[in-house]
Amino acid sequence: MAGIYIHVPFCKSRCAYCDFFSTTSGEAWMRRYADALVREMAARRAEWTLPKVDTLYLGGGTPSCLPAELVLQILRSAAALYPLSDNAEVTIEANPDDVTDDWLRALGAAPINRISMGVQTFDDALLALIHRRHSSRQAVSAVDACRERGLHNISLDLIYGLPDQTLAMWESDVRKALSMPIAHLSAYALTYEEGTPLARMRDNNKVAEADEELMSEMYQRLCTMAAEAGMQHYEISNFALPGCQSRHNSSYWQGEPYLGFGPGAHSYDGHRTRRWNLPDLARYVAEAEVPMEYEVLSDDELYDEYIMTRMRTRRGADLSSLPDNRREYCLSMARPHLANGRLRREGNCLVLTQEGLFVSNDIISDLMC
Ligand code: SF4
Repeated sequence: MAGIYIHVPFCKSRCAYCDFFSTTSGEAWMRRYADALVREMAARRAEWTLPKVDTLYLGGGTPSCLPAELVLQILRSAAALYPLSDNAEVTIEANPDDVTDDWLRALGAAPINRISMGVQTFDDALLALIHRRHSSRQAVSAVDACRERGLHNISLDLIYGLPDQTLAMWESDVRKALSMPIAHLSAYALTYEEGTPLARMRDNNKVAEADEELMSEMYQRLCTMAAEAGMQHYEISNFALPGCQSRHNSSYWQGEPYLGFGPGAHSYDGHRTRRWNLPDLARYVAEAEVPMEYEVLSDDELYDEYIMTRMRTRRGADLSSLPDNRREYCLSMARPHLANGRLRREGNCLVLTQEGLFVSNDIISDLMC
């Protein structure tokens, strides 16, 4: 099995664009959550079928807003129940203002060897507009603090297409990120999720969505600048120095099974069954059995899943691993995109070209059944 994901559903405050499941409840809820999480990890032990765990990912929400002692409690319990392999990748997501020398020192005994920080932009006015609680200066200090503590596998997240963000402002963000001693960069286009404060700001004409042409230019500049900095573009939104790709996320895109713990976390058995814990913290901490739902994927859904995950990656979709009828269908749907240069064949694989990457959603949906 690929790895373990632990969902930490807490944030100190909510960002204007975010519709992820998290709450701003305080420390008492965090302690109840940690106890329930350990209970769930123990109860589901039989679902894990390998001797060791290769990747463990603490995501959220904002795992770094937990007190360090709770992070240690969670990781100790996880490692006791699900022993980590010698070179396991253990990632924690963090908000830059949490990543201080004191916090890193308090986590000293934890097996964390990778940190993923939500920087989003280095422009303080834009950070305030999207209700991020850190400053550009804190993001820089956080990276320095990690390096000083020997944590070198650092990933930063950026967002492009923010309100009033120009191409020059975006280039400045990417340049700044790439000038820092990081191993990995993720960059996502801003989406206006219905029900979020940002969508309401747009509906009230307080902010405007960036147009498609600008978004495309931003994406192309990102790709060019990351390549110039020696980063490999290994997934639509992800860039890494050689050998520093996220092993945990890569295993999702290769369809490997994983176990997800915590309210809102998803699991996959690698065959046909997906399970998700309900995003309900009150029930999660109160009920002896974790409230969850599951689905068994049909042949059509399995094919769609294969296309959706593999086409995101630089490796693409291996047509030889599809049954004959699916391969023929996929190729027939790919033909117009092969002709217009948005897809190409690499051996048995169907791969997005540079031109196809920005419109990948449209292409992938054309290939699905
Ligand atoms: S910190 Fe992350 S999870 Fe929390 S509200 Fe902001 S974007 Fe969402």
